[in-house]
Amino acid sequence: MKVMANRMDRGFFRYQEEFESKALEVLRSGWYVLGNEVKSFEEEFAAYTGGNHCVGLASGLDALWIAFRLLGIGKGDEVIVQGNTYIASVMGITMNGATPIFVEPNPYYNIDVSKIEEKITERTKAILVVHLYGQASNMAEVKKLTEKYNLKLVEDCAQSHGACFDGQMTGTFGDVGCFSFYPSKNIGAFGDGGGVVVKDAGLAEDFRVYRNYGSEKRYYNKVVGANSRLDELQAGLLRVRLRHVEECEEERRQIAARYLAEIQNDKLILPGVQEGATAVWHQFVVRSEQRDELKKYLEEKEIGTIIHYPIPPHLSEAYQYLGYKKGDFPITEQYASQVLSLPMYNGMTEEEQSYVIDAINAF
Ligand SMILES: *Cc1c(COP(=O)(O)O)cnc(C)c1O
Repeated sequence: MKVMANRMDRGFFRYQEEFESKALEVLRSGWYVLGNEVKSFEEEFAAYTGGNHCVGLASGLDALWIAFRLLGIGKGDEVIVQGNTYIASVMGITMNGATPIFVEPNPYYNIDVSKIEEKITERTKAILVVHLYGQASNMAEVKKLTEKYNLKLVEDCAQSHGACFDGQMTGTFGDVGCFSFYPSKNIGAFGDGGGVVVKDAGLAEDFRVYRNYGSEKRYYNKVVGANSRLDELQAGLLRVRLRHVEECEEERRQIAARYLAEIQNDKLILPGVQEGATAVWHQFVVRSEQRDELKKYLEEKEIGTIIHYPIPPHLSEAYQYLGYKKGDFPITEQYASQVLSLPMYNGMTEEEQSYVIDAINAF
């Protein structure tokens, strides 16, 4: 049997008729950018998250960098972020000229909240919380700090659509919740897409203006903005995804529950879920000192896995200019050398799950 790390086609074929009829509806409408599909998706997604406003954008990275831009964070400012995130989180900060200040992760792969306060300086302007792999971070503790030090709070929810802390959905705790709808995300488009969930109506309006060349009214430009619009086709297809989001979340929970119950091998550390948090299992990430052998062994059995992520941002070539070296963030670096994401996708059959479990148990 061959099991790939991800199977995006399965998620399409399950709702094929709905996706195809929506696609045709948009194609035949004659209206492709900033229309009713985007407007409806924004309303539906805001309602789904429990947030006040949603603004559709072109990608998750755009959501991040435009968020910091509109919050007025730039050169000379510092933003606190976990060291083991996907590099796009960090780019959202540095594209504005601001400096990322890395904090080590906790055993749940999210920011170790107990290590934030020691990094706060007079230049600190914001905390960027990444709900990595689909598990909510400890927002009660983060909120205490942002309130105590009067910091902006931005959430990177590119992997956490639907994950909650203390019953509240990620993306609604701070000033801006940034989402990606890249095809492999838990709510995925059929191309690039992104969006923000925003508490403040004025800030939501700023995003609407910014994404469209800074114009509120056509050809009257208030600010130098960007072209970062979620398009009508993607918005329409995302509305189909949203209709089925709960059953897809439940299916991932069941796959994770089986992995947690049935994978038994001392060479692996299985993921845990922090008290108060829920996980939507964007990735099911195990850790092993023999990670590279495990990956190779699974490859021989035709089981695909992915390393999220092999090079932490502070050691990436792109961020050489920040001046970090190996050893600066030992936990982040340890995780980078040990993590492995097992196959996890909607439409994964029970036979595929069993095949993966048996193979790992025999390693
Ligand atoms: C995918 C991802 C992004 C970037 O989203 P894009 O839509 O690909 O630009 C940002 N942060 C995290 C944590 C991600 O997983």
